[in-house]
Amino acid sequence: MASTTRKALRKSLARWFSRSRRELPWRQTRDPYRIWVSEVMLQQTQVQTVLPYYSKFTKRFPNVESLSEASLDSILKSWEGLGYYARARNLHRAAKIVSSEMDGNLPDNYEALRALPGVGDYIASAVLSVAFDRAYAVVDGNVKRVLARLLTIDEPVNKSSSSKVFKAVAEQLLDGESPGDFNQAMMELGAIVCRSSKPNCAACPVNKFCKAFETGMQDAFPVRIRKRPVPTYHIAVGVVRRSGRILITRRKPTGFLGGLWEFPGGKVKPGESPEEACKREIKEEMNLSIDVGKHLTKVKHAYSHFKVSIDVFDCRYRAGSVRLNGPEDYRWIVLEEIDDYAFPGANHKFIPLLKEKKLSPSSNKELPKA
Ligand code: SF4
Repeated sequence: MASTTRKALRKSLARWFSRSRRELPWRQTRDPYRIWVSEVMLQQTQVQTVLPYYSKFTKRFPNVESLSEASLDSILKSWEGLGYYARARNLHRAAKIVSSEMDGNLPDNYEALRALPGVGDYIASAVLSVAFDRAYAVVDGNVKRVLARLLTIDEPVNKSSSSKVFKAVAEQLLDGESPGDFNQAMMELGAIVCRSSKPNCAACPVNKFCKAFETGMQDAFPVRIRKRPVPTYHIAVGVVRRSGRILITRRKPTGFLGGLWEFPGGKVKPGESPEEACKREIKEEMNLSIDVGKHLTKVKHAYSHFKVSIDVFDCRYRAGSVRLNGPEDYRWIVLEEIDDYAFPGANHKFIPLLKEKKLSPSSNKELPKA
């Protein structure tokens, strides 16, 4: 694209953005901390979903200091339902570093930002451009789609190596005088005009520069490589009761859903019944013998890379002292305490049923020793 065309495109985009931008809370501030939090939340989640989380989170943790001093449990609880929990754990780790090594101020240079946990090119570029007016181009899914259509780029957007290609194009196009607004305008354009299906080309401020529009090929871009179908795992979990309390376990702090609480159980092996799997998993992971009772419900849940189908059983503690092999921690809680703990989305699909059933205390009297 010629330099005069790029200039004209930036101008049209800027004019449209100043007129049509959505008034979002993170656009009312230049506080690098708040912009950082918003970008971390927005990285894999839609704006409408992020809005209530952002407001609750920034009220509870208004600055780096408060976030660094908070417990991981309270952060995960505030993040509960937003998904991709590694983002929350990394925010916490990064806040501790910024607080102890940088006087609580987020750095305004790319290398130092990238060195923080969870800060990749997207977050670093977004914070630098929006909070510090530094000329770094942001490339997310929306920007890739706009660029792919504008310039009919046939690099598959879901191929990991494509980021470099799109980043180079975005850098060329970037408005060096207002990089923050330019980046936000590109993301906004992708979110509300150049949508993945039915782009509103008639209302698009850059349609006169768009090759896909010119050739009527909007639907052919962006190009994607076909993904393999996601597997479904069959899981059995137990609501293990003893003396009116129920057993919950905590996942290890790193990895998938790390640090969240859940009901004990695991994958059903081939040839095994869900009841047998529930009993075996709880023995293996907790060293507890249980009786598996009534089948309470079956729930299905989709994560980004796989799906789960979960059989939930009402179980009674029978024997044994807890010895953890897998989970990081455990608690025997009363049902009324359940909302104090952060659970993954799949568990939230049957927790209301447990509350509704008000599971009665089991006949066992004593709690197991730790
Ligand atoms: Fe997207 Fe249409 Fe605008 Fe091109 S003209 S950038 S396809 S909305």
